[in-house]
Amino acid sequence: MKRTVLTVLAGVLLATQAWSQGQQAPQIEARKVDGTDNVYTFRNQNSQAMFIVTNDGVIATDPVGYGRPQGGAQYLAEIRKVTNQPIRYLVYSHHHFDHIAGGRAFKEAGARVVAHRRALERLKVLNDPNTVLPDETFDKSRTITLGGTQLELTYAGLNHSDSTLVMRLPKERIIFLVDLIPVGALPGRGLIDFYPLEAEQSIKQILAMDWDRLIPGHPGAPNNRLGTKKDAQEQLQFLQDVSAAVRAEAQQGRCWEPVEKELKLPKYASWPGYEANLIFALRRYCALWGRGT
Ligand SMILES: [Zn+2]
Repeated sequence: MKRTVLTVLAGVLLATQAWSQGQQAPQIEARKVDGTDNVYTFRNQNSQAMFIVTNDGVIATDPVGYGRPQGGAQYLAEIRKVTNQPIRYLVYSHHHFDHIAGGRAFKEAGARVVAHRRALERLKVLNDPNTVLPDETFDKSRTITLGGTQLELTYAGLNHSDSTLVMRLPKERIIFLVDLIPVGALPGRGLIDFYPLEAEQSIKQILAMDWDRLIPGHPGAPNNRLGTKKDAQEQLQFLQDVSAAVRAEAQQGRCWEPVEKELKLPKYASWPGYEANLIFALRRYCALWGRGT
């Protein structure tokens, strides 16, 4: 009897949890960015992209389909709820599959795929079956002009990857920037091919650009918010703090294990991801200061 009551209670608890999870943001959703006429975010679970609707067609970014083969088609279907304009461009933020696999649906819809030169070089070698190769690449900058909208693409050097673009909408003062500045959270596994020294210069360069709001490639914390220059400044400070702390330890010969097990940065303990992700930052900076890589 007691067991039956407990089982029922457990069932109610599970149902309540499922309901409360169901009240959170939908997993697949296109949403207009407040204060803009035609700029949207597209969210697929934990990934996010930006698209712009103009009278001459759509500029889409990042088809976010890794591990979700239908991701590109789902993204396109969400765009189709907003507009029937042709898809003119698909811009890759960088070459990592978790953001750009799934572009086939866009290619078939007629999009021209644009990326940094280094993204094409990498993708050719990696030959991922779900990732469409870029049609067009550039080195330093390229501006896409379509139906009265300008989208400036800038390569700000080595940072989160060697192919990351800053996409800036000058009129709206918005940038779309993926993985380099996690909004309100610690960076994690994405640091594995991160360029620590160059990234600091890159973030300074991005801070000097003209913008107010940052759309991140993973929903910002808390509440899927957009980022600001304050977030960029705080992220830069975090990287500088980890770097200085690990450098001192490395010179005492404490990389890798003692640092990974014992070094803490309590200043950042309240940031989402601190417990789980600090180790990835420590490991990356141990690679830098402990062995020079
Ligand atoms: Zn990435």
